[in-house]
Amino acid sequence: MTTDFTQTRAQFDLPDGLIYLDGNSLGPLPRAAAQRVDRTIREEWGKMLITGWNKAGWMDLPTRIGDRIARLIGAQPGHVVLGDTLSIKVYQALASAVDMAPTRRVILSDTGNFPSDLYMAEGLCRTLGNGYELRTVAPEDVADAIDDTVAVLLLTEVDYRTGRRHDLPALTEKAHAHGALAVWDLAHSAGATDVKVAEGGADFAVGCTYKYLNSGPGGPAFIYVAPRHAATTRPALSGWLGHEAPFAFDLDYRPGAGIERMRVGTPPVLQLAALDAALDIWDTVDIADLRARSLELTDAFIAGVEARCPSLTLATPREHAQRGSQVSFRHPEGYAIMQALVARGVIGDFRAPDVIRFGFTPLFIGLDEVEGAVATLAEIMATDAWDRPEYKTRAKVT
Ligand SMILES: *Cc1c(COP(=O)(O)O)cnc(C)c1O
Repeated sequence: MTTDFTQTRAQFDLPDGLIYLDGNSLGPLPRAAAQRVDRTIREEWGKMLITGWNKAGWMDLPTRIGDRIARLIGAQPGHVVLGDTLSIKVYQALASAVDMAPTRRVILSDTGNFPSDLYMAEGLCRTLGNGYELRTVAPEDVADAIDDTVAVLLLTEVDYRTGRRHDLPALTEKAHAHGALAVWDLAHSAGATDVKVAEGGADFAVGCTYKYLNSGPGGPAFIYVAPRHAATTRPALSGWLGHEAPFAFDLDYRPGAGIERMRVGTPPVLQLAALDAALDIWDTVDIADLRARSLELTDAFIAGVEARCPSLTLATPREHAQRGSQVSFRHPEGYAIMQALVARGVIGDFRAPDVIRFGFTPLFIGLDEVEGAVATLAEIMATDAWDRPEYKTRAKVT
């Protein structure tokens, strides 16, 4: 397949004149999603009411859509399911993984991980008691910190702040060599890079759909369980829809077959409808093309900004193998600089303490947008246009 990125661009409803470099935080609206959700509301919910669970196939959406996401992360069909938020999925994967290394007490992660992942790990350790601990080291020290005390390695493949990409296969292999399991968070890699969970040997993987996959605000997360664990994993969040026979209403919990056991409660049908429509665009995308295009865009942005904005410091690795699909720069006035950009129609975001972040999403961003963003940023830096009080007042969501 050769991907036609002009075609994919045409499938999104983006406001005119806007350069949207924040698809890594919230993907834009796929044109078909609005129609699809409308149809689900009016034709399915409105007319079928409760029978929609069977007639419209609502109950199968989490696994059916899981199969569509599987291709994007290099997983086999039948081993991915949708549901809940990513924070919950991190907890669920981690709890199952820890349970599979019962003589060990250490969860190893890095200080670049997204705080919610670390908070969930801390919460799990507190609940388990019994000497469980979360150990964090600097991202570059992870490989050396894997030893025979580690039960589970919990990492986010692409750093949300810097865009640095961990070597998933190599770190997983090292974890396995030391008898540990590897749980990977793909929040910033699913739909952004050429993720290979099966080939890379991941035991569990989790990720977002509202970022690069464009399911809309609050879209559910996904979880992958390696086929070798599918029949033995014990779910910590043993909700009724992960039961072998939910509608038998048995008083005892028996895990469902394979990935079904990672379901918890009622699926978010409207969000899944939006995601299903968003994935129609992904069906036309070859992941190798996506990766090549993403590197072309991030290379061009780095080169442009470094040539024209000497006061900004690159926070993203130059080496392709170590880069996701975003570019970040550091500047003490990063917040105000980003507000000045947003005021001029270039949308990125800011991550404390000093990082301005730009996501490059080949489905709807091309070299024209890269050039436009560089020119606007260069103008702001050259004229100190960011230095105004209104750009320095922080909003709740940055
Ligand atoms: C975006 C993101 C989250 C967000 O989790 P939610 O529960 O969906 O709010 C968690 N972890 C990582 C690594 C993320 O990038």
